[in-house]
Amino acid sequence: MSDHHAAEAGEVRRFWGRLGLPGLVDVHTHFMPERVLNKVWDYFEAQGPLTGGLAWPIAYRKEETERAALLREFGVRAFTSMLYPHKPGMARWLNGWAADFACRTPDCLHTATLYPEQDVEAYVGEAVEAGARVFKAHVQVGAYDPADELLDGAWGLLAEAGIPVVIHCGSGPAPGKYTGPEPVARVLARHPRLRLVVAHLGMPEYQDFLGLAERHPEVRLDTTMAFTDFTEGFMPFPRGALPRLAALGDRVLLGSDFPNIPYPYVHQLQALGRLGLGDDWLRAVCHDNAAALFGL
Ligand SMILES: [Zn+2]
Repeated sequence: MSDHHAAEAGEVRRFWGRLGLPGLVDVHTHFMPERVLNKVWDYFEAQGPLTGGLAWPIAYRKEETERAALLREFGVRAFTSMLYPHKPGMARWLNGWAADFACRTPDCLHTATLYPEQDVEAYVGEAVEAGARVFKAHVQVGAYDPADELLDGAWGLLAEAGIPVVIHCGSGPAPGKYTGPEPVARVLARHPRLRLVVAHLGMPEYQDFLGLAERHPEVRLDTTMAFTDFTEGFMPFPRGALPRLAALGDRVLLGSDFPNIPYPYVHQLQALGRLGLGDDWLRAVCHDNAAALFGL
């Protein structure tokens, strides 16, 4: 590990150490097959339209083993391998890779994904049987309606099993055809117990997604990229909504988007700390809520 990363790891450890935590749980990190991840990185660095045309240099463009080692150095006790298809016929293959990755990476929560297609209920069931503990759905990149009838059986199965689904459904950094609160509200109308974890705090529709969580006790939010200088520069969180965020303190989960972030990991933590919501809120968000959800 470089001196630079050793210093950063020290800063991250001081953050959770001061709170008296045993480490962090990060529900939103990306590990995927190398050639897919390389494509994602190239896309971000070329400032493609889905990134909102923002300059987005990848801070941790490294080998897979180095990236996992770095999370351990940071003291991240558990993380995920968020991966997602952008077209049909791809999810089953991604799920096979993720099962293998979880097998060789014991601190990664076995992750799976889905897409509206004929065999989705079958392969979601297989992933659950194989021990998947969290799913990722990407409504923006996948460009599908989450309330598509083809997904109905899969949502029902995941609701029944109580398996959380981290869902990128907000219209940040750029809107998609089916992003925003309305399609997800239709999913929850049919499956009110579905454990959706709204990624990125639903940015930029923060208030709508806070409302969704307030109305549905199983809905949670992840902090991924929220409150950072980068995000505040173009999709600021409305200060007036901070009391609502404080009140939902048992359903907000730390997420980072590591390694696909244009700033150091510790900045996400500092961005949460400076909200001034207190140490109890930070302990819950950075560790305890996810530890309870995943039985860690
Ligand atoms: Zn992400």
